Amino acid sequence: MLIVLLSAERDLAVTGQDVVRLFYPDSDIVLQPAVDYEIMLNVSASRLGKTLTGSASLKNRDTGLTEEASTDAIPVAGDERNQQKRLVKLALFRLLCRYQGTAPGPWGILTGIRPTKIVHRLLDLAWEPPEINEYLINSYDMAPGKAALLTGIALKQRPFLPAKDQAKKLVSIYVGIPFCPTRCAYCSFPSYSVETRGGMVESFLKALKGEIEKIGAALTEQGKKVQTIYIGGGTPTVLDTQGLRALLANVRTRLVGDETSEVTLEAGRPDTVTEEKLKAALEYGVTRLSINPQAMNRHTLLKIGRRHTPEQVVESIEMARRFGFGNINMDIIIGLPGESEKDVDNTLREISKIRPENLTVHTLAVKRASKIKEDKEYFHLPSWDQVEKMLEIAAEGARGMGMEPYYLYRQKRMVGPQENIGYARNGFDCIYNIQIIDERQTVIGLGGGAGSKFVDPETWRLTSHYNSKDPETYITRIDDLIARKISMLQGNSGLKLKGLS
Ligand code: SF4
Repeated sequence: MLIVLLSAERDLAVTGQDVVRLFYPDSDIVLQPAVDYEIMLNVSASRLGKTLTGSASLKNRDTGLTEEASTDAIPVAGDERNQQKRLVKLALFRLLCRYQGTAPGPWGILTGIRPTKIVHRLLDLAWEPPEINEYLINSYDMAPGKAALLTGIALKQRPFLPAKDQAKKLVSIYVGIPFCPTRCAYCSFPSYSVETRGGMVESFLKALKGEIEKIGAALTEQGKKVQTIYIGGGTPTVLDTQGLRALLANVRTRLVGDETSEVTLEAGRPDTVTEEKLKAALEYGVTRLSINPQAMNRHTLLKIGRRHTPEQVVESIEMARRFGFGNINMDIIIGLPGESEKDVDNTLREISKIRPENLTVHTLAVKRASKIKEDKEYFHLPSWDQVEKMLEIAAEGARGMGMEPYYLYRQKRMVGPQENIGYARNGFDCIYNIQIIDERQTVIGLGGGAGSKFVDPETWRLTSHYNSKDPETYITRIDDLIARKISMLQGNSGLKLKGLS
């Protein structure tokens, strides 16, 4: 279906696109007049004295039906253009809800991926939680349950958010290992199968070693300390013992300091976990392990291209417990192909027996680069309603293990407009996850495809930088990548470095 979305001011039409996509995820949306459209939408924002209003109208070309909606007028306050954009979204959302007879999920017009940031901004302004809930419900058309969830999570995170002076001194580090045993059907991460790209691992590790050393030295020079480290990917434990040992030793020597309170190692695929690798992890100060089943159902694991079994998940976690790891996270995905509520219930029952300290519940996002996107027929996905029920089963399971939600983010193209939630038992909240989502601390990404976010504590503004995804390009460009990051760390975000593009 072709949808035309127009506005006299193009940026308002651009803003409205995300809302239209909530209702029509598979349709083509164009921002200029077209002849063979099915629905034409028009949006505008107007100012009358000191108040603003958003409006939207709809025309169905075949039936001739027209509809209109406007928001209540609100007083101009703060950034007027941002207010106008929100009002346009709200008018469009209400119009399409009426036209379709239903709302597309519980998040209203909130399409951003870090909604807790809104709550933190309001908490900074000393708003009370009930006021914030009311604002989220009325200004974003969010369901009351989601508003309460969001506010509750933000309040739980407050003690971990750095104040301005701390944000000047403390950073977190992400280390990306872009290799996996095989590629999962849903994967959109910068990851390459060792079966096809294994020959590059050694030179990749050499480049990464240099990057860790030089960034470590730059941090010391500037008097900055590392609070948390997250070694992810990819699957870091796909490295052989020697490679993993050398990496962890380098991280320990160059990055870990007296302020480092958390070092996470993703051992994403249980079939890559061995006693020797766990021994190395313990020896070099890993405090948190993430072993990710995604589902505890053999048929699902086969379908999504993971070669391990549910039994291997249990074995690898038992092994980690024997070695003394007391903080284990497990990731699961809701909405996997062919899964029903019964399957999710089984996954949660199996995980409850293992009793991890953290459970991260993702909703499947169907990204462009994934096999699922390419073959929708084969990968039959559950409906939005089913996904909602499955998320409730997961939340119930987490509560049953004594966990509470402590971080939340959303993604584009989820199966159902839902969210990803991290649950933790008391005292086991992953501080890195909070810092990366709430963006109040500089996070430096090292390795393949790793993103860096440099935070200006005076304004909480961000400057981003991304390492090359492809290991070969990463290796070739390593000196440029390091130089640029060191420069950004010194606060030269806008500076064009000589010889760098
Ligand atoms: S384990 Fe993770 S990074 Fe590796 S292929 Fe699967 S989804 Fe991608």
